[in-house]
Amino acid sequence: MSNLKINFNIGLLGHVDSGKTTLARALSTISSTAAFDKNPQSKERGITLDLGFSALTIETPNHLQSLPSITKHIQFTFVDCPGHASLIRTIIGGAQIIDLMILVIDAQKGIQTQTAECIVIGEILQKKLIVVINKIDMIEESKRQDYLDKMKMKLKKILSRTIFQDVPIFCISALNGINLKEFVEDIKTILHIPDRDYKQPLLIYIDHCFAIKGQGTVCTGTIIQGKVSINDTIELPAIKEQRKVKSIQMFKSPVQSAGQGDRIGLCVTQFNSNQMERGIICQPGYLKFIHAAVIKLNRIEYYKFPLKSKSKLHVTVGHETVMAKIILFKDNSLDRPFDITQEYEYVEELLLDEKLITDHFVMLEFETPILANDSSILIASKLDLDVHANTCRLACWGSIEWLTHSSNYSTEILPKFKIYRNKLKQGTIQRVVNDNQIIVQNLFKKDGNRDVYVGKRIELSTGECGVIESTFGQTSKVKINFPEGLREETLNLLKTKQNTVMVLLKFKKYIFNKKLGIIQ
Ligand code: GDP
Ligand code: MG
Repeated sequence: MSNLKINFNIGLLGHVDSGKTTLARALSTISSTAAFDKNPQSKERGITLDLGFSALTIETPNHLQSLPSITKHIQFTFVDCPGHASLIRTIIGGAQIIDLMILVIDAQKGIQTQTAECIVIGEILQKKLIVVINKIDMIEESKRQDYLDKMKMKLKKILSRTIFQDVPIFCISALNGINLKEFVEDIKTILHIPDRDYKQPLLIYIDHCFAIKGQGTVCTGTIIQGKVSINDTIELPAIKEQRKVKSIQMFKSPVQSAGQGDRIGLCVTQFNSNQMERGIICQPGYLKFIHAAVIKLNRIEYYKFPLKSKSKLHVTVGHETVMAKIILFKDNSLDRPFDITQEYEYVEELLLDEKLITDHFVMLEFETPILANDSSILIASKLDLDVHANTCRLACWGSIEWLTHSSNYSTEILPKFKIYRNKLKQGTIQRVVNDNQIIVQNLFKKDGNRDVYVGKRIELSTGECGVIESTFGQTSKVKINFPEGLREETLNLLKTKQNTVMVLLKFKKYIFNKKLGIIQ
């Protein structure tokens, strides 16, 4: 049995103040970044750690001991996320390495906005979930059992409408330690050995960087994918520079290499850590900035606002949350992957109760380009809504179906998209020339460019189809030809009630390629 430790990552989720940090602290024995935090330069930079990482080492439980390549000890790393933005960022970004989610609920407050959002995120990412009702010390002892039983029932009912059936629910006090030992014992019994893949390209999310005089720059973070060893060359894609790995630490101990799921401190040859705003380290050449992407639309049913094309949402991809302009469009046949050569219909707005009877896609144009890989899941939310407003801020999600690395994509690539708007112009008949010809008015604006419409098909409200033969007169009229002639009834109608017959010009316009003009 190996003496190394398998690392099991537990994401702590829950509403602000539910007790996540207190729980992480209570459960852990050592704090990972503490050693580096004492460094004076890191203080000088005014780093505020926005992620707390702490760990607890346990002996490998019996039910796992017979597994091949098992280790003597298993380490739980608790990923505690304070604010909301960093919560979804960490969970989505770290989805590959989060092995279990603990949803913390305040016993007195019950389900709150972020509690619901966490359930949504858990569902999107299809993670294992357990629920903890915390602060039970606040419930008077004589009423506690009853109160908690009722709360559990309610929670079970809510969860039964999600993918989370039969989720274990624990009642604890993180502060007073009530039921904590039992809780850890129970986690052990449901523990599984996480699937790790060390063969994929290296990807590390860095949360913290600082220089140590004479040694280099230390970056602390989590290996999301792949493996890193001393002397490897790694890349900082944000500044497009490469560095050599000088040493690696895992929870204060030096190691030769580390892999997916591990939380490490990486010392590399010196770089100016002020330049590292985008906290990503990867295999050289692996990540490039993405300027725009298309995802298949998955709506989040708790989001109580319509989705509008050309509006802006916060989009969390990989390690980052940026603003993006969204364009909605739909495919009228179902279940096809996105294909840039296909035609799609532009969708101005998706109302709340609108059922998705067709496949919808969302194009996202990022205000700041993002670093992510092409299999990333992305969540769009409206984070400027008040956390206390008691409403779900997560709007929709999907995985990337198309992306572009070109910063000139709007001129180089978007014109290739065949996203069209349906247009309709209506006019009336000014006079009948003969059985095959009419003059139409009001179809176009005065002095508009009528020439581009010559040759296009029109339809009468009575059913006949005709073609615009030429412009007529100086301003806005056109002459229309009916190869098969006008029907008797229509001619009669035109003699008596001319204004009741409408002329309809239906066409499509590609929203990203206006030059293509009018398409029928
Ligand atoms: P977080 O925002 O979810 O990380 O919540 P914190 O861990 O920071 O806790 C918020 C507040 O709740 C703090 O004042 C804690 O001391 C308190 N708290 C946390 N757990 C318990 C508990 O089990 N019982 C009581 N009474 N207070 C708690
Ligand atoms: Mg906290």
